[in-house]
Amino acid sequence: MVSVSDKVRLVVEGVECWATVRRSRLARRPKVRALRDQLEVVLPWRAPMRAADQLLAANRGWVLRHMLRIAKEMRDFDPASTYYLGEQWRIEPVDTGPLFAKDVETKTFRVKAQGVSAARALVGRRLRAEAKASLILLVHEWETRMGVKVSTLTVRDQKSKWGSCSQKGGVNFNWRLVLAPPEVMQAIVVHELAHLVHLNHSRDFWALVAHHDSEHRKHEKWLKDHQHRLMEPFETV
Ligand SMILES: [Zn+2]
Repeated sequence: MVSVSDKVRLVVEGVECWATVRRSRLARRPKVRALRDQLEVVLPWRAPMRAADQLLAANRGWVLRHMLRIAKEMRDFDPASTYYLGEQWRIEPVDTGPLFAKDVETKTFRVKAQGVSAARALVGRRLRAEAKASLILLVHEWETRMGVKVSTLTVRDQKSKWGSCSQKGGVNFNWRLVLAPPEVMQAIVVHELAHLVHLNHSRDFWALVAHHDSEHRKHEKWLKDHQHRLMEPFETV
């Protein structure tokens, strides 16, 4: 029995962090990615475990930089705070009042719950439903504008992807896009719908994206700059 995923504890120059080692039948060479709370090494299916060590050693500077960033991310994580529509909101558990209320003026979610963790979990579920409703409307609007047809729309929770599409015309989005500014969510919708015309990242693809979203680079940058905050957990804190 081959283990598909192993978790290893990394210690580099006194800094500790988790790294998941995952095997993929699609991977041609070892790769390392930095997620919000850990590093992820992807190995080709039959590569030996030492290929992971070799890769981490060869990228020691990059690895250490991300380990420090992850340690800071873990230390700074505040479960009573989240991004919503690109702004910082507070999460406040309350004893009385409605189950879930948004105070737009003070940017506070007031949730009838026992403690911050329970309140945060409920905020996550509400925002996920809200994201789905917003994405359905946006996709519908941009199908018409771009003259494309989406076959299926799914909304998921993903650690590193914002959107994807399939050859059959299905599109998938990360619900956490609702945490980003609306124009950023829209930029990802335009990006994936543009893939229904060009299933690649060719010049023609980027020209089509730029035609519908002239500020797409700014929107992609916002997402990249904030991605780790937007990936903060809602359920298990
Ligand atoms: Zn793409």
